[in-house]
Amino acid sequence: MRTDARKNIGKRGAKLNRIEKLMITICILSVISILANQPEIYSQIRVDWTDIGRIHNEPVYVRPGVWAEFALTESELAELDFHGIPYDVIIRDMTAYYVSRFDAMMDMGGWRTYEMQKAALDSLHDTYPAYVSEPESIGAGWDGNAIWVVKISDNVDIDEDEPEVLIGLGIHAREPIAMEIVLEFAQWLMESYGTDEVAAHLVDDREIWIVPLMNPDGYRYNEIIEPDGGGMWRKNRRNNGGGLYGVDLNRNFPYMWGYDDYGSSPDPSEETYRGPSAASEPETQAILELVNSRDFRTSLGFHSWSNLYLSPWGYTYDLCDDHNWFMRIMYRYARNNNYIYGPGASVIYRTNGDTDDWFYGDTTERNKILAVTPEVGGYDDGFWPPLWRKPELVAENMPACIVCCQVAGSAPFMTSTWVTDSTGDTSGYADPGETARLKIEVENLGYDPTLAYIIPSAPISGVSILTDTAWTELIPSQGYDTTYVDFILDPVRFDAGDLVRLDFEIRDTSGHLTFDSTSFICGTPFFFAQYDFEADDGSFIASGDWEWGEPTTGPEEAYSGLKLWATRLDSNYRNDRESILLIPPVIIPDSCYKPMLSFVHWYSFEAPSAGDVYDGGTVRISTNSGSTWEVLNPINGYDGEAYSGNDYVGGDSVFTANSGLWKHEHFDLSAYEGMTVEIALVMGSDPYVTEDGWYVDDVAFLDYIETGMTTTEISKPARPMIEISPNPFNTSTKIDISVGDSREAELSIYNTNGKLVRRWLLTDNTHSITWDGRDDSGKSIPTGVYLLHAKTGDTRTNRKLLLLK
Ligand SMILES: [Zn+2]
Repeated sequence: MRTDARKNIGKRGAKLNRIEKLMITICILSVISILANQPEIYSQIRVDWTDIGRIHNEPVYVRPGVWAEFALTESELAELDFHGIPYDVIIRDMTAYYVSRFDAMMDMGGWRTYEMQKAALDSLHDTYPAYVSEPESIGAGWDGNAIWVVKISDNVDIDEDEPEVLIGLGIHAREPIAMEIVLEFAQWLMESYGTDEVAAHLVDDREIWIVPLMNPDGYRYNEIIEPDGGGMWRKNRRNNGGGLYGVDLNRNFPYMWGYDDYGSSPDPSEETYRGPSAASEPETQAILELVNSRDFRTSLGFHSWSNLYLSPWGYTYDLCDDHNWFMRIMYRYARNNNYIYGPGASVIYRTNGDTDDWFYGDTTERNKILAVTPEVGGYDDGFWPPLWRKPELVAENMPACIVCCQVAGSAPFMTSTWVTDSTGDTSGYADPGETARLKIEVENLGYDPTLAYIIPSAPISGVSILTDTAWTELIPSQGYDTTYVDFILDPVRFDAGDLVRLDFEIRDTSGHLTFDSTSFICGTPFFFAQYDFEADDGSFIASGDWEWGEPTTGPEEAYSGLKLWATRLDSNYRNDRESILLIPPVIIPDSCYKPMLSFVHWYSFEAPSAGDVYDGGTVRISTNSGSTWEVLNPINGYDGEAYSGNDYVGGDSVFTANSGLWKHEHFDLSAYEGMTVEIALVMGSDPYVTEDGWYVDDVAFLDYIETGMTTTEISKPARPMIEISPNPFNTSTKIDISVGDSREAELSIYNTNGKLVRRWLLTDNTHSITWDGRDDSGKSIPTGVYLLHAKTGDTRTNRKLLLLK
């Protein structure tokens, strides 16, 4: 609860001793000095991309090539008016807008104050003194507020020979999520230490330094001017004279300081004022001293907002020497939250004197640091997200914190898997009943070489894993190796065409642990149409940007062989364009097991922002020679839905943003058995921003069949015909089964864990069974999805049942 200081003064004003009077005079003086610095009203405004260079502020959100939004004061807006720069006001008063989303009963809208930050560090140390050092002040701002740091590690008082990591920073005063994420990460490390192997490994084998707030003066100033939260002060509190305050500490670092005036300003009145000289600020010096005295290898310096991870360089568009390493690391950071990532200069805008460039670039007194800036929060979050967003924003950045710590040492990750058969490297398939092999590629993203080992498991029963532990050779930093896991799929549980999933724990010799999984379709594919695009273009009909040949952009090579189809082989796709790639008509045979369309693709489309998906590709199917089309959904789903401003795929589900790596895609065509279908890969771009585009290889139409079956048998399996009604059902459902020529059939019901629930053996060729939702022992079974498996002779059919109570 808030206390009202003025009211207290009024009550006690009658009887004051001299010291109290003096205290009050000091209070009043500081109130006056604050009033002299009346909090400015900031408006969020949007300008055309072409005008971005005319505004000397850091954009708060950009749609590259289209528009940029800024947080500007009244006087800055007057300057835009003066120079005739057109703009739209998105939010008139940002602080008022942020406060309107807060609970009025909570100070700072519920976001931690500077003192609460210190209390949180104290509490961590008091609760876990063996693992969290006593908070230490490494310096202070001009107003004297301390910058606190703690170290987290086992044997925390000893400087052990363990990889060092620096996380936090909190450099901009109006970005409270930075401090929250790192404090929550520290809390998670400690609370999970005894129960979570990932956390335990990081605490035991790393030295993690936490600086939640390196701009305490600026943050406290926001607390004073806007005690309800939403304060818009960004810089530190240097007195620049003339009533002007503050240096942008993220422009004050000495590597390429003041390189040019892009994104950093020599003008003390501006938000990106870089200070009178490199490292002129006490806060900057405190961090320099800390960093130069340690051997940090990786760092995350949190900011808000825009859902980005940014790597060096900031000062130039040139790629840094470790660009590919950074990209692979940030792919892991962004794997769960789909943040856009890349070098700061090209992803958003150029700046100089920022933390990342100095951490990475200045190696005169220490080694390079792989430093990345997360910009946390989506378009609606702003600088002060509503408090309910905090757990989500924290959670979506925990993987980046963990990976950042791992990369400082050895850090093996799975990159790709592929199924072979039991004979090893030949391109075989995992048929139910046979010994199959999964090859696994492992990369070491870490600084140190490592042996990796992988422990496989299956989330559903019916998979017998024959390899307890799969080992790699020693993998150098940034290197790769492959290993394998052998397994057998239970032929009763699995049919050709079923999706199989395997889970993995990935470890290094010190116990490092990540989790990953892979899924694939079992059975041997029988191709009824197949295109590798090597000898010819497959007679595909292309319009718009689709081209056949060898790519030099995007993935820069085909997935297999040399050639593929791409929306331009040597440059970005074009704006405002529909590009259609039409596959020749295909007849989907009758009585397939599970007919599918499959292809391998790599894609990079304009990144979604402001909640909109701008560009993307979709797959459409027609059963009437192209008169009407509908979207065909991949088994693993699309990435999003295109916005209405895209004239070609607007409203459709699409692949968008980045695939990251090559991706296998499967589309179930069971609904089209016996039909002639046409399929089109449709890419639509809106009028702005282009990227590498869509690269498609190895298109195939196939059915998955089982061991021992020949391709001629596929056209005539006498599969059981099943009808279930009702489904979903409540108390009972009727199952009608026709087994054709076969006299005998076995009907089994499994739960989703693969456990047999009920089984019937049938001896006539037509049956009607009423299932009362009970298992073989007569017990009533719970609500859920169940699998009905019908087996006659060599053929099998599966159906899903949903029991709702
Ligand atoms: Zn920032």
